[in-house]
Amino acid sequence: MAQPTYPAHALVVRKTKLGETDLIVTLLADDGRLLRAVAKGARKPTSTFSSRIELFSVVDALLVEGRNLDILKEARLVDANLGIRESMERAAAASPILELAGIIAQPELVHPKLFSCTVAGLKAACDADPAQTLSLSAACLLKVFSFAGFRPSFNECVKCGSKIDLSGGRSSVVSFSVLDGGCVCDDCSRLSEVVHLPAETIQWANYLLMSTFADIAQHPCERRVAFDVMQLCQSWSREHVGTRLKSLDFLFTCGLF
Ligand SMILES: [Zn+2]
Repeated sequence: MAQPTYPAHALVVRKTKLGETDLIVTLLADDGRLLRAVAKGARKPTSTFSSRIELFSVVDALLVEGRNLDILKEARLVDANLGIRESMERAAAASPILELAGIIAQPELVHPKLFSCTVAGLKAACDADPAQTLSLSAACLLKVFSFAGFRPSFNECVKCGSKIDLSGGRSSVVSFSVLDGGCVCDDCSRLSEVVHLPAETIQWANYLLMSTFADIAQHPCERRVAFDVMQLCQSWSREHVGTRLKSLDFLFTCGLF
């Protein structure tokens, strides 16, 4: 009896070699679920498949249910996000978006906002000046953390709810507890394990979390600040998602920016 097939509108988030000529393709479906499927023969030089299942591509796929892994039978390219793939800077800055989506998404967990936010973040990065992609990527990471239930608190104390003053200049610092979930006021900081971050970093992180990608593309933060926000995202991922993002470590050391 033929195995059942099913369609999926999905983003390619990861590819892993399998055997001599096959690939395991990890997809983020538009309902937010994670799909893994074998693309048979995709690494053969003659394969026409491989160009349609590049990282960052959005595809209309047809999959066949398998006993262990499903089979990717067809893939029609909907959007290659070429602007990212053709620029090393954009690809390096946008890779953490793919990596986080691939970690947060689960096979049985329906989460449409995860797909829409991830794809919108990539689209914005695709069209932006390469230097702006750092801000857009940091914004996308913060938004995805929030949708996944790990929203950082940037303007209220996570312990007592009092307002945090972020209006200070470059020299002013804010107490921040990754473990507790965000900023901590002076009184509560005595009882918490905190790090002291520039108020400017928290201000920008809050702006990136709360603003649309279109606004951020118009008003990106400085590269130095974007890196500080991304360092915060790395600590956040380690504590709340349970893993370091390898693509962020690469970004910090690659020297492209
Ligand atoms: Zn407090």
